[in-house]
Amino acid sequence: MKLRTTLMAFSMAALVSGCQSLNTDALLQSGSQAFKAVSLSDSDVKTLSDQSCAQMDSENTIAAANSAYGKRLGKIAAALGDNINGTKVNYKVYTTKDVNAWAMANGCIRVYSGLMDLMTDNEVEGVLGHEMGHVALGHSRKAMQVAYGASAARTAIGATGGVAAQLSQSQIADLGEKLVNSKFSQSQETDADNYSYDLLKKRGINTAGLASSFDKLDSLDAGRESSMFDSHPPSKERAENIRKKIEADKK
Ligand SMILES: [Zn+2]
Repeated sequence: MKLRTTLMAFSMAALVSGCQSLNTDALLQSGSQAFKAVSLSDSDVKTLSDQSCAQMDSENTIAAANSAYGKRLGKIAAALGDNINGTKVNYKVYTTKDVNAWAMANGCIRVYSGLMDLMTDNEVEGVLGHEMGHVALGHSRKAMQVAYGASAARTAIGATGGVAAQLSQSQIADLGEKLVNSKFSQSQETDADNYSYDLLKKRGINTAGLASSFDKLDSLDAGRESSMFDSHPPSKERAENIRKKIEADKK
């Protein structure tokens, strides 16, 4: 396992230019300590994702496979498949009123029962296809790098034995929390929507559910200060994007 360190040059430049009267050498020295960030290897990302997923599972109530939610998810999972570019998918339902779904780079996909209450199976397929897109397109890996940098990098600097081995239980919990709340860019969101559309088509799943899932999120957005998709492009635009694709496919 390789542990690489990079100096975040932009932070340093901002610091130095803002503090002309300070001793630059001393500042550079302390800065290089404070702003080292660890570049995670693929195996680091996998291990940290495994740990974060297990931690989230331990903090939530998982619906049994033979419960109504478990059975619905089983059907949805069979439709979507259990593989993202060679990464094996592991699906589970958390029993909670929250409307949410997410995926980690190791193929850990979780959907909340609140979202399943709101949506049809076909709509859940569209949403989970979107989450799979974040994994397939490398967004989840990047999100792990960001979350790791924000929550754990400082204590990991210079230690040996691999990045993941150095994290405490509370750091893993913090990492999981940050991952689940990752903000993706608008272009990442649109790319994940398009990935879902293509995946649904490829798997012979009705693509209409992807568009109507956005209609439901739109009505939810209106009544709430924030939602799972609050950083996404507006839900109306997302539905429109998918409906245009559906129309174009008919021609
Ligand atoms: Zn997304």
